[in-house]
Amino acid sequence: MKHVYVFGAGASAASANTPLGSELVWNYPSNCGQVPPINNGVPDLSEENESFKNFSSFLKLVTTIYPELNSLPQNWDNRGMWVFIPQVEKKHYVDEMLEILHLKRNNQGVELVRKLIFEHLVESSIGNPNQLYKKFISEVLKNSQQQISIISFNFDFLLHEDFEKDVYFDYLLEFNWIDDNRQRTYAKNQPFNLIKPNGSLDWGICPSCNRLYLYFHHMFKNFYDNKRCSDCGSQIQPFIIIPHERYGNIIEPLWLSAANDLKVADKVIIIGYSFPDYDKRVSNFFAKSLNSYAKLEIVNYCEHEKDKAREKNTILAKYNRIFPGLRSEIDIHLDGFEGYLNRYVDGNAYERGG
Ligand SMILES: [Zn+2]
Repeated sequence: MKHVYVFGAGASAASANTPLGSELVWNYPSNCGQVPPINNGVPDLSEENESFKNFSSFLKLVTTIYPELNSLPQNWDNRGMWVFIPQVEKKHYVDEMLEILHLKRNNQGVELVRKLIFEHLVESSIGNPNQLYKKFISEVLKNSQQQISIISFNFDFLLHEDFEKDVYFDYLLEFNWIDDNRQRTYAKNQPFNLIKPNGSLDWGICPSCNRLYLYFHHMFKNFYDNKRCSDCGSQIQPFIIIPHERYGNIIEPLWLSAANDLKVADKVIIIGYSFPDYDKRVSNFFAKSLNSYAKLEIVNYCEHEKDKAREKNTILAKYNRIFPGLRSEIDIHLDGFEGYLNRYVDGNAYERGG
């Protein structure tokens, strides 16, 4: 039996309060800002301006891509007491921005957006207990009777934050350098494959010579600022992959491994991932790779009972569209990552008892 888990932003948001796709970078100040002190009756923003200086540059960058948002930098500068920017009508996915910047050959812009993705994810998860991924490791991975592999579309490294408790992961990449702290446990003792086709914040890449670095997962927001390639001296960046970017030879084996796993999977459990319309590449890839007899279990979260039937229909319609040839049933649960883990634990207890 082979089970494949697919994780999207919904899983990390449920476990560690990280932002969902459309909130990534945009909600950084509202998630991580603090109420500024008042000096002589006026809010003193100096500290905050310092911590969000990259965000301020991001807003200027946004106006070069979406002219309709050109009031944002001014709103930010005049925000006074408000630690968050005034509600933006349409938040553009940063994935989309990265692609546009890449096509415009704006490398500095790409670097800035990557930096903000890193800052927002790292800052928003600091101090969070990350219970659900921990439970996933202790209940699902540790006791599994099945062969399991994981495909994660998340940049964060929350799943293996707890990796030193006899469950280990293998990213299936050839790193040129691995941090000493990481070396002890990385890919040891029958590791689970953790395939991250979009990249990962603990992977550093040298944009000049493509050397790959694997860092320890204790990271802080300025982590990459002083990281230089040991070979050519260039500034290392967190490895966040833009569709169509070069790096094909590094990333292609990951897609290949994911395809091989999906071809032999008996069951695929998709948690907090919605096959977003802007990323056709992923839908097409799954449609092509998934064997038609695999059982699909979709786990999403829907808060209100009254919305559940409609939500289920929407999901079902989408899956029927993406996987027209699927022969087995599609099981949809709207109780979220936590609900899934509770059901999993109950199911195991039932099996042991009966
Ligand atoms: Zn280099």
